[in-house]
Amino acid sequence: MIVMLKELFELTGESREINCNVPLEELEGISSYHFNGPVEVSGTVSNRAGIVTLSYDAKFVLDHTCDRCLKEFEQEYEYSFRHTLVRNCNTDNDEYVVCEDNTLDLNELAVSDILLSLPTKILCKEDCKGLCYVCGTDLNESDCEHNA
Ligand SMILES: [Zn+2]
Ligand SMILES: [Zn+2]
Repeated sequence: MIVMLKELFELTGESREINCNVPLEELEGISSYHFNGPVEVSGTVSNRAGIVTLSYDAKFVLDHTCDRCLKEFEQEYEYSFRHTLVRNCNTDNDEYVVCEDNTLDLNELAVSDILLSLPTKILCKEDCKGLCYVCGTDLNESDCEHNA
């Protein structure tokens, strides 16, 4: 979703609700994670005392494969993000999101926020015991002679 922000930048006190989905097609390029469906984005953009803030939640489900035991499982995620929006950047503060031409590509921003937040190591449970290196037994389910 492209959010038009002209009024929000110009009118103090203005605020707007945002609801959109990032469709699966836009998530397919992300090779390290497999999205189970669209990302649901909901939040608000508001102008308080001339400062425009975007805050939103992103909800989605990923299909994971455990890094240790290779079990496949689904995991639901819900993250909250907040950014200050500016029209042009005269600082190096990267908490600011620069909205050229008063527009914001919310899908693109949401995808990059999510990728920065997701764990890099995926485990089906924190103490997953993994597979035996020798015989491949799932050590969460049974022991084998190599791990007695
Ligand atoms: Zn596991
Ligand atoms: Zn074994």
